[in-house]
Amino acid sequence: MLTSTIKKFVNRLFTAPSSGPERLTRDQHGIDRRSVSRHAIKVCEVLKQKGFDAYIVGGAVRDLIVGLEPKDFDVATNATPNQIRPLFRRARIIGRRFQLVHVVFGQEIIETSTFRAPASEDQETDENGRILRDNLFGTHEQDAARRDFTLNALYYDPLSEVVTDYHHGVADLKTRVVRMIGDPETRYREDPVRMLRAVRFAAKLNGTIDPATREPIEHMAPLIKNVPSSRLFDEMLKLLTCGHAMDCLQRLRAVGLHQGMLPLIDVIFKEEGGRQFVALALERTDSRVRSGKTVSPSFLFAALFWKLTQKRWHELIEKGEPNIQALMQAADDVINGQTKTLAIQRRFQADMREIWFMQPRFERATPKGMWRMLEHPRFRAAVDFLQLRAEAREVDSVQAQWWMDLANADNATRTEMIEAWQRDNQGAASGKLRRRRRPRRNPATTPQTPTP
Ligand code: ATP
Ligand code: MG
Repeated sequence: MLTSTIKKFVNRLFTAPSSGPERLTRDQHGIDRRSVSRHAIKVCEVLKQKGFDAYIVGGAVRDLIVGLEPKDFDVATNATPNQIRPLFRRARIIGRRFQLVHVVFGQEIIETSTFRAPASEDQETDENGRILRDNLFGTHEQDAARRDFTLNALYYDPLSEVVTDYHHGVADLKTRVVRMIGDPETRYREDPVRMLRAVRFAAKLNGTIDPATREPIEHMAPLIKNVPSSRLFDEMLKLLTCGHAMDCLQRLRAVGLHQGMLPLIDVIFKEEGGRQFVALALERTDSRVRSGKTVSPSFLFAALFWKLTQKRWHELIEKGEPNIQALMQAADDVINGQTKTLAIQRRFQADMREIWFMQPRFERATPKGMWRMLEHPRFRAAVDFLQLRAEAREVDSVQAQWWMDLANADNATRTEMIEAWQRDNQGAASGKLRRRRRPRRNPATTPQTPTP
């Protein structure tokens, strides 16, 4: 009798419909509809006119509630991709693992996906429980349960201005707590990238990771090595461009997550001036991101690895390698050492090298060489990099500023600047900067370019 009562109770707990999601009104969530993409509103409107459910979802809702500008807008709906696509003039179905629709409006793409079902037992996983294939559509409630953190599982209806919240995400968002939906360990096993996402959102929101969500990370961190290296690269880039890059790096190191993606960071931080150089680079990146400017991945990675490359460069020079060959070899050694864990795309690698290789040229340019450098597609980035080095007191800041002015000038002014430079340097050996550098005692600075 008693057991059947308990059974009934337990059954009720698991099968009875929950009290349902919270529905928060404008006053409660505070989203100002004027900050919402009109194209995202349009997608929801069209779908609703056809009798479907449609909401703005994910990062956009999270960011709008805390007053940040969303990067992009995603829509979730109960319409299937084949039902969505014909409703829009420019829409295409993409994805193999899980199909979704890109609805295109000029420059903006609204990613529109169908509600997904929860991870099921017959799902294909690897030996660690990582999900390899899943392609099942589900209900709204199931879709919410599939999302990673409570603050990422919020659904905003731009027409009624109501936020549907199945997991108390708005409350967590207001207290800036990153909390996993479901059992954290299982969910990290399904997708180890969620550990990195937890760190990123906590840093971005200036918040914390809920203890139960944080606790398993340290011992599960090694699972990161099973994630394809191209996905890790994308995630690393997101970490570095979320506007709180240094905080992210520190948090990653605190839980050991950097080992699987950026193990060299420990070595870099141990180098003399290494931490300071990375901090300066990331501060610049953060302030660019926060003021809505773009950030070049090549510049970022060039900055991250510069101190290692420089150290290797010095070592090779000491072994008797000529200056430029030594730098090229150093770049190869450092880049090849890193890309085993995190696949930096080839085009970015090429740009990093060019940014680095232009550095010694700033110190020994002839007027003809200056004009050639000005035409180089990576010139602007290399000058920015020179400024960063000046900020780190590696090079003379007046000289760095001269190059920055040259980069910003029109052609007539460039001619004047280069002629003036030539006049000022006439007394010196032809084509060399007059201001000779003092012999350097600090090993962190650039080696002197040998005079031919
Ligand atoms: P941002 O775009 O700022 O990086 P985001 O939260 O929008 O953050 P996306 O990768 O664009 O991140 O994903 C959109 C939404 O999809 C997330 O908010 C989350 O609800 C869900 N999601 C993304 N990645 C995962 C994942 N690995 N596991 C579970 N849900 C995820
Ligand atoms: Mg997003």
